[in-house]
Amino acid sequence: MLCCHLLTNLIDNAGQRGLAVLVCKTDAGLRFALQMRAVTADNENTMKKFPKSSFSLPENVTLSESLRIRHCPSCGTRLDELATKDPSLFARLADEQRLYQNNWET
Ligand SMILES: [Zn+2]
Repeated sequence: MLCCHLLTNLIDNAGQRGLAVLVCKTDAGLRFALQMRAVTADNENTMKKFPKSSFSLPENVTLSESLRIRHCPSCGTRLDELATKDPSLFARLADEQRLYQNNWET
């Protein structure tokens, strides 16, 4: 059980358009990110295979971006403490969401 419905919805939205919360496995342990996606992760990966000039998007459009977070964006619960209550769930989420992560340092 997560802290609130918004966090559940944000985690369920990983890899889809809009906002999501990602669970990220790093060398330093689990980290969390708030991610924005203009397109799904699948669409972004497809678009990377073609030159940007083949799309009708401006060159400076950001398709996805992540921001590291430490607290639930809705209720403020500390995410590292939440993860300690159900480590197997968060380990599974980190594995499932691995492909959606932007590159950011630990
Ligand atoms: Zn919450």
